[in-house]
Amino acid sequence: MSETTLTIPQADPRANYLAHKGEIDAAIARVLEGGRYILGQEVVAFEEEFAAYLGVRHAVGVASGTDALELALRAAGVGSGDAVFTVSHTAVATVAAIERSGATPVLVDIEPTGYTMDPNQLEDAVKAYRRSSVVVRPKAIVPVHLYGHPAAMSAILDIAQRYDLIVIEDCAQSHGASLCGRKTGAWGHLATFSFYPTKNMGALGDGGAVVTDDANLAERVRLLRQYGWWQRYISVSPGFNSRLDELQASVLRVKLCHLDADNARRRAIAAAYTRLLADTNLILPVCQPEMEPVWHQFVVRTPHRDALQAWLATNHIGTLVHYPQAVHQQPAYAGRILSNGSLPHSEEAAAQVLSLPMYPELTDEQVLHVVEMIHRWSENV
Ligand SMILES: *Cc1c(COP(=O)(O)O)cnc(C)c1O
Repeated sequence: MSETTLTIPQADPRANYLAHKGEIDAAIARVLEGGRYILGQEVVAFEEEFAAYLGVRHAVGVASGTDALELALRAAGVGSGDAVFTVSHTAVATVAAIERSGATPVLVDIEPTGYTMDPNQLEDAVKAYRRSSVVVRPKAIVPVHLYGHPAAMSAILDIAQRYDLIVIEDCAQSHGASLCGRKTGAWGHLATFSFYPTKNMGALGDGGAVVTDDANLAERVRLLRQYGWWQRYISVSPGFNSRLDELQASVLRVKLCHLDADNARRRAIAAAYTRLLADTNLILPVCQPEMEPVWHQFVVRTPHRDALQAWLATNHIGTLVHYPQAVHQQPAYAGRILSNGSLPHSEEAAAQVLSLPMYPELTDEQVLHVVEMIHRWSENV
């Protein structure tokens, strides 16, 4: 391939399908022939396999990562009148799900280098809301393991314990990541996953899961995902329709078998980017030694972000900005969502971050090409 025609997307879910095409096609054929398309043996098997992989007791498949968060919050008894602390530097879905549960999101700032919730900011916010005359009372924390990097769970759990708060991890970007040898998703009272196609473990459509060690919470999520049915046609509580379907579950069982290998390849790509971009003026991701991130994104940072993105686009290299505005800056939320004062680190990140191409099928040649084009740009700024 000549340099001018080397087109590199930022993410490539089709490449992952093609990498496992034989197994995925066979799994889909099995479901089509089996004749059961909703909540059958594929979902049951996937739930067991995924829970075992994470080291938790229960997993419940649902329709999306957003639904997973809403159902987890509702199962934990979080709703109207409750303050739920999360970050503004996240997918808008995190905050949307908290509002859908009836609770009030309270946004706290991130640590500037790790891009995840700053535990000091969290504790300040919790204290402020306990004292304040605002009607909402602190109830839960939703840390987000953004870009595949674990949030500071020890400090966050410590705060949760001292102030009697529920912790629900948003693991939509951290399938397989761990902290001190324990997987993300195995730290909080509950945790939620998305299987959107570009996530580290992606379905061929929408999907999500709630995981927990607590049998009662798992049972409540199971009721909520299907009309509150305790048995067919008999609802014991109000509920929703938020089911993982058999086709997606069968695909996810294949993807789960390859998750560790796919994450290892992401790590190798991240190591190459880190080594080869060290001499540029870009700020590179920082990892604490106790972390094993899974590099959902490889995010660099520069005040000249838009120029770098435009230069790479001209050279047929795809990049994305996760995310161009913090949630509290977006039209739907600006001036309406509560925060702990201003969120300068979140706003600065939104202005400067850029996600380079990152997916397991990215070749070494492509990585070198991306690095080469960044070097050429870097020499001129
Ligand atoms: C993708 C994502 C979600 C939402 O998941 P969906 O399956 O798209 O509903 C929630 N939180 C984070 C951090 C995400 O990246």
